[in-house]
Amino acid sequence: MTTIKASCPTCGDVELTPPQVRLVVCTVPAWSFYAFDCPECTDEVRKHATEDVVRLLTTGGVPAERWSVPAEALEEHAGPAIGWDDVLDFSLSLETTDVVAAALAAVQRHHAA
Ligand SMILES: [Zn+2]
Repeated sequence: MTTIKASCPTCGDVELTPPQVRLVVCTVPAWSFYAFDCPECTDEVRKHATEDVVRLLTTGGVPAERWSVPAEALEEHAGPAIGWDDVLDFSLSLETTDVVAAALAAVQRHHAA
């Protein structure tokens, strides 16, 4: 079986077999990582997996788990956070269908213009 050389921050160089290594390949390459429980100190070691590391580990027999990050998680958000007052205002406005209809009409007028 392939021997994988890795390093633990506490124990230094350690040798692992493919089943001891977990490889997670993310749609955001910077978030890909590999992890293992150090055979010496049993601490979990987790490190970033560059493209080269992903290639080395998969050719060494470590199956890659695919991790898809939803696009919403990568959106940038600006402006103040929504507070309880905003939620209450929204809830109250939903109870008044006239207000919602007026708001929709205003939006439609805006888009038509
Ligand atoms: Zn260790």
